[in-house]
Amino acid sequence: MRKALLGLLGLLACAPMATLAQPYDVVFVGGRVIDPETNLDATRHVGVTGGRIAAVSETPLEGRTTVDARGLVVTAGFIDLHSHGQDPENYAFKARDGVTTALEMEVGVSPVAAWYAAREGAAIVNYGAASGHIPARMAVMRDSGVLLPRDTAAELVATAEERAQTIELVRQGLAEGGLGVGLGIAYTPTASREEILDLFELAAQRRVPIYAHMRSNGPVVPGAIDSLQELLADSLATGASLHVVHITSMGLRDTPVLLRMIDGARRQGLDVTTEAYPYTAAQTDLSSAFFDTGWQARNGIDYGGLQWVATGERLTADTFARYREQGGFVVIHSIPEEVARLAVADPTVMIASDGFLENGRGHPRSAGTFARVLGHYVREQKVLTLMDALRKMSLMPAQRLGVQSKGRLQAGADADIVVFDPERVIDRATFEDPAQYSVGIPHVMVNGTFVVKDGELQAGVAPGRGLRR
Ligand SMILES: [Zn+2]
Repeated sequence: MRKALLGLLGLLACAPMATLAQPYDVVFVGGRVIDPETNLDATRHVGVTGGRIAAVSETPLEGRTTVDARGLVVTAGFIDLHSHGQDPENYAFKARDGVTTALEMEVGVSPVAAWYAAREGAAIVNYGAASGHIPARMAVMRDSGVLLPRDTAAELVATAEERAQTIELVRQGLAEGGLGVGLGIAYTPTASREEILDLFELAAQRRVPIYAHMRSNGPVVPGAIDSLQELLADSLATGASLHVVHITSMGLRDTPVLLRMIDGARRQGLDVTTEAYPYTAAQTDLSSAFFDTGWQARNGIDYGGLQWVATGERLTADTFARYREQGGFVVIHSIPEEVARLAVADPTVMIASDGFLENGRGHPRSAGTFARVLGHYVREQKVLTLMDALRKMSLMPAQRLGVQSKGRLQAGADADIVVFDPERVIDRATFEDPAQYSVGIPHVMVNGTFVVKDGELQAGVAPGRGLRR
């Protein structure tokens, strides 16, 4: 009797599976499936249906479309927390670099709702942004800059009324779905300590992280250490979570000290994270406050360490003055290779590009960040394991965002999937020729739709969705 009952239960348990044995939309066959959250690194078949990962299986699955993934890594698509390039040109380079979600969390945007609306149904990767202090302050103070302040918002102390209006815009942006508060204090150096503290308070109230480019960089006091102290103190005083952007271009040779401070803060219970890009140069607008008097000492370089993006030429005192007046982007060759390497190797530092291209000009990080970590730093230099690298590119950013459905190669997760060849993946973008697609990444899927298939961008698809809070 008991045996018969067990048999019946077994039959009942099997029945739903039998009736649901329809083919999956897509099956990735026999790939090396890596999922950092569960530490899975094994040969599996991955079934995708309805935009979700429906099965990760040891036994073969039937699919309407099958992709031979033997010899290739199948893992969660990369999440770039720091992607200024938010247009079709940039999304194409992101997708070819394995990125399935590209977010503008540092400068952020304002107004937020209009920004999301402009991308609805038109993006090949998922997109999203923080509610930005910089654009809000620029709007209120009528700054003439485009992405970054170039006059009033950088040079003037805000009146009480301007401060109130600015924080109201940031608050509004959060109500419209902004994923956090974006801060770039170096670009608004006249923003007082209290103005910044108010933003931390707002972030704490709304339970969103602050994504911050700190007040100063480099070793000259007040520099990177002082600036990180401001951020950590504000985080402690308000309870706001904190993500410190591009730690290497801030810390330069003091980067290990900054990492020690962040590590210590985490051990004391603060929610603090950080990120880096795998390059030895930064990039910003020459007309911004970053190049106010003293930039050479702050960055440990001279005019020749600057490279004008439009032409690739190295600057002199003369061209520096002329181009600063005009405004435009420069590459800043300021980050020692050993500093870039140690940040990439550090298991607590996420990978984020900080990139954007305009008409094919810009910093190679825009196109090559993720493939460069996998090809150069994992395979060639062996400074970190593949599992750790993938954790820093997908799972940790998803955790920072508080998004459960991304950053995981697991049944139930969104079908944001990258398939790459661990023996071939590499960046091709250079400082001279930055608009070069990465190679060795044959397939990229966003919400169940291929945006890259057999190494080619797919025309006429726009499966990217806006990530809102
Ligand atoms: Zn920045």
